[in-house]
Amino acid sequence: MVDIDLSIENLQKCICPECPVQSKSQCADEKLEKMIESELMQEENISNPQEIPGLYCVTGESKCKDFDSEQTCQCSGCYIWNEYQLGKREPREYFCINFEVL
Ligand code: SF4
Ligand code: SF4
Repeated sequence: MVDIDLSIENLQKCICPECPVQSKSQCADEKLEKMIESELMQEENISNPQEIPGLYCVTGESKCKDFDSEQTCQCSGCYIWNEYQLGKREPREYFCINFEVL
């Protein structure tokens, strides 16, 4: 999925921050807070992809280990998921916990 840009524009479309899989994750919360404190969507965030609590279809699975895989992935409702037809690729969703970027 390297054809999806790790860009501010795409980050703004990502709905991972609202997803129940990571909504109770302290680890993701801290990353989100840090991103907001450092003035959300600044370029420096993009240069450190592991610190972004989203865009996992680009960056690969999160380093956070407290995600709840029993909850439902929201990717199919995301503009990027539809634009890039990620439902036709593997994995189709849950990129935050099962997508290894080589
Ligand atoms: S497809 Fe999923 S991981 Fe990728 S940008 Fe959309 S919500 Fe985020
Ligand atoms: S990749 Fe899917 S499961 Fe993971 S946080 Fe984003 S929407 Fe939720």
